[in-house]
Amino acid sequence: MDDERELLVVDPTPGAHPAGAAPEIFVDAVRRILDEIGEDPDREGLRGTPDRVHRMYVELTRGYAIDPDRLINSAVFDVGYNEMVVVRGIEFYSLCEHHLLPFFGTANIGYLPRTRVLGLSKIPRVVEMFARRLQVQERMTTQIAEFLLDRLDPLGVGVVVEAQHLCLAMRGVQKHGATMVTSSVLGTFRSSRQTRDEFMAHLDRDLRR
Ligand SMILES: [Zn+2]
Repeated sequence: MDDERELLVVDPTPGAHPAGAAPEIFVDAVRRILDEIGEDPDREGLRGTPDRVHRMYVELTRGYAIDPDRLINSAVFDVGYNEMVVVRGIEFYSLCEHHLLPFFGTANIGYLPRTRVLGLSKIPRVVEMFARRLQVQERMTTQIAEFLLDRLDPLGVGVVVEAQHLCLAMRGVQKHGATMVTSSVLGTFRSSRQTRDEFMAHLDRDLRR
């Protein structure tokens, strides 16, 4: 699994996400933020913070550098299976693009194959590819669904994402622990109530904890 992960991250264009020390402009920017909020960027605990923040953002936004073709192509199979495939409870961590704070939770994915299925281990990787970047939950949900529709050409696909947003929880706007649920249903998952109901019935056991 770890070997595979290495292969999937293509070398980013030089300067986009340099892997080594933080660029000076990044260090300066973080130091200015620290200064602006009343901190001393030179005190011992904060001296290494700009470099750490840089490494963290490279890690948390590595989805931009994942090549979707390499992610998918070795793991799409033609099989004679045409019943619904459902993968539930895929954990993910993302960053809200409005506040650069985490939102995290689980993605639940179902699709009805026409001929192609995707290797089971790849489905969480698809979620990760879209989660590890600056996001809004609604768009991430749609991107996952549209990607699977495009690459697998299934009869239909459904994605339900349930997440907590620290920009809500930490700022006291909402009750602690409140979650947001978003869904995207395409193809027969949209047009056929029976298919959609079958998908939702698979999820109910998880989502009604
Ligand atoms: Zn936010």
